Amino acid sequence: MVTYTHKEFKSILIKRKFIDSWFWERYGINGYNGCEHSCIYCDSRSAKYYLPADFGHDIIVKKNVREMLDKRISGARTLLPDIVAMSGASDPYHPAEAKFKNTLQCLEVLEKHKYPVHIITKSKLVLRDLEILDRIGKNTWCCVSVTITTTNPEKAGFLEPRVPVPAERFNIIKTIKDKSMHIQAGVFLIPVVPYLCDSNEDLEDMVRTSKKSLCDYILFGGAMTMRDNQALWYLKHLKQKYPELIRKYEELYRFKHDPEQYNGIYGADESYNKIVNSKLFDFCKKYDLPYRIKRFIPGDFRRLNYIISERLLNHAYYLQMTGQKSSNIYWAGMNIQNLKESLTDIAARNELRKIRNVDNRIETYIKKNLN
Ligand code: SF4
Repeated sequence: MVTYTHKEFKSILIKRKFIDSWFWERYGINGYNGCEHSCIYCDSRSAKYYLPADFGHDIIVKKNVREMLDKRISGARTLLPDIVAMSGASDPYHPAEAKFKNTLQCLEVLEKHKYPVHIITKSKLVLRDLEILDRIGKNTWCCVSVTITTTNPEKAGFLEPRVPVPAERFNIIKTIKDKSMHIQAGVFLIPVVPYLCDSNEDLEDMVRTSKKSLCDYILFGGAMTMRDNQALWYLKHLKQKYPELIRKYEELYRFKHDPEQYNGIYGADESYNKIVNSKLFDFCKKYDLPYRIKRFIPGDFRRLNYIISERLLNHAYYLQMTGQKSSNIYWAGMNIQNLKESLTDIAARNELRKIRNVDNRIETYIKKNLN
């Protein structure tokens, strides 16, 4: 049984120090704490989120989100409209949303203030808000990413027991693309679940079905990460249903299984990620499906900064996913999108090299693109 606790919070909008280079968000909103979907690999179980152990049944509903968000945006002189991710520690369209509508209330405020929105969900309930999402897309930018980790309904039932089967989730995207002209929509193949959803057939089927479902992209980020309570929860379930896989996980994440504590590594072995990601890049090429989301480009002084940093960060993503050195390009892109003035003005003063991580090569690249 699910219990709902209504609680006041001091803030509703989180501003990130750096824009996320995969999802492109500057801000984040969680209308709820806890998530009824209860996926067994969910990172929100990690100790750092301070959520209740049974975070799928004890849901905290944030009070007065509409008023708080409106007040925060109206009263902020330093905030610039940029992408708000509706996700994080909970799915914005888990069942609680049908009752309490915190996500919809936030969307209404974001639409009023012309903020672009990125929804990350596994739920069909997102289709309820198609009209407002389409208007946000028309006026600024809107993206809906549906997380799907496998096309196999049995494996999905084990990993994500309380969400629609994969075919229904692909159908969410198809419906959005059929009905809306202004929403970018695609698949988050995040995480790739080792030894359950990573065979050639699994990966190719994910890309092929995404293409058939009219996806604009399929975004992937390598193998599942493992951290303290989240890893323990996942391994407990894995041991019950697929005990033969525990040994393989011990090798991949370098730990000795102990139901009381996890002492393995956070990310899977680098060589594993390299193999999986390069297969996915090949399948994306084969089915002509992009693996990056097109970002929001504002009309103010940030315009060229965002265009150029998008190119740098797209390249850095490819390098990172294929196990190549990407740090300098990545940080140059991150720093450029944080600038308080236009690259054109900085270039006119011949000061591009003063931007952190902009070396000779990147300076030449920027100049070429500015021209
Ligand atoms: S839908 Fe997302 S936030 Fe909710 S339990 Fe699953 S992974 Fe976690």
